[in-house]
Amino acid sequence: MSSPAKRARTDTEAGEARVAIAFDIDGVFKYGREWSKDGLRALQKVTEAKMPFVFVTNGGGGLTEASYASSMSSKIRAASSLPEKERTDVIIDGSRMVLSYTPWQSLLAPSLAEGAVLIIGDPKEQVLQVAHNYGLKYAVHYSDYAVKHYNINPFRGAREGGHSHTAVATTAVSNAEGAKRTACEGADDRPFEAVLVMCDPYEWYEAVQVGVDVLCSPTPLTVEFDVTVPPMPCHFSNPDVLWKSEHPFPRFGQGAFKIALKALYMERMRFLRIPQETIDERIAAIRQWGKPTDATFRFVEQRLRELAPMPHATTERFYMVGDNPTSDIEGTRRSNIVHKSTCTSWDGVLVRTGVYKSGDETNGATVVVDGIGDAVDWIIEREKGLRAATGGAS
Ligand SMILES: [Mg+2]
Repeated sequence: MSSPAKRARTDTEAGEARVAIAFDIDGVFKYGREWSKDGLRALQKVTEAKMPFVFVTNGGGGLTEASYASSMSSKIRAASSLPEKERTDVIIDGSRMVLSYTPWQSLLAPSLAEGAVLIIGDPKEQVLQVAHNYGLKYAVHYSDYAVKHYNINPFRGAREGGHSHTAVATTAVSNAEGAKRTACEGADDRPFEAVLVMCDPYEWYEAVQVGVDVLCSPTPLTVEFDVTVPPMPCHFSNPDVLWKSEHPFPRFGQGAFKIALKALYMERMRFLRIPQETIDERIAAIRQWGKPTDATFRFVEQRLRELAPMPHATTERFYMVGDNPTSDIEGTRRSNIVHKSTCTSWDGVLVRTGVYKSGDETNGATVVVDGIGDAVDWIIEREKGLRAATGGAS
């Protein structure tokens, strides 16, 4: 008969499995402005099954993780079809939110804390709050920079003054008028070290102009293109070119802004007769985050491991519940390529309540279900089956 110590070791050798879930939000828990009546019950079941979970969205809207979590919790609760007394709270705090820019807090911000960082995205106050929470001491919003240096955007002065921006206009903005508009508090024009596109900017022209200026030179007011410095890092949080708003047809999103910024950055360098190899090197410093990128999926795995540490786990099964085959399910497909021949795997659970419609390409989803309730039931049943098949060790 084996001793308890020996038996414990044998159980470990048989393998503990980490099972965890990443939930998309739009098209899964919410449809437009309407929230699912099944969301709360689904989260209660996942909690009862002791499966760690996070929410992963390419949105964020400049909100902090804590404020996103708090407003989402109350909406999921309010929409529930459960009777009031059964609406037990499920813990959704900031640690469970992976917004498009969340990985930057630990992976980018520490090395940028002391440098000036150009922040692109709106609403201004909110994105600056996020930057501040991440420890970026010298975050400069693109619109503040344009207000402080009024001639960076000739159209801003013309629009605000109600006159033409051309030189023939008699009411051209004078330096004195421009100086009145300086309102960039705390910015001391130290050299820029990075550009962070946190979410969609409201003013594309100004964002592109200021963005390209900074990409070309850390000191864009005095040096047009700085050949002496390494390529300026530029990070985009959300690759989605189109998104669904209230208009009947999709609208341009951050991915579209990236196409515009990148094209005009290249065009600007060609005008300056920068050698093609330098242009290629500069463009290569542009980095993409968000679903379905590896960067975001590796971050999600790490967050799920931290939420429920299992030092003896020998197998990991991650589930992604989402509505978008080219984003959510594509992320699982790429992850399985990265983890090939390891004991970590991803399964895509595709729901029919959003982008995906019956008959569309599923991009290799493990299963297609009607909605969030069925998705969670399927995962729990599958895990029961796997545990039974391995005698409870799995
Ligand atoms: Mg979605």
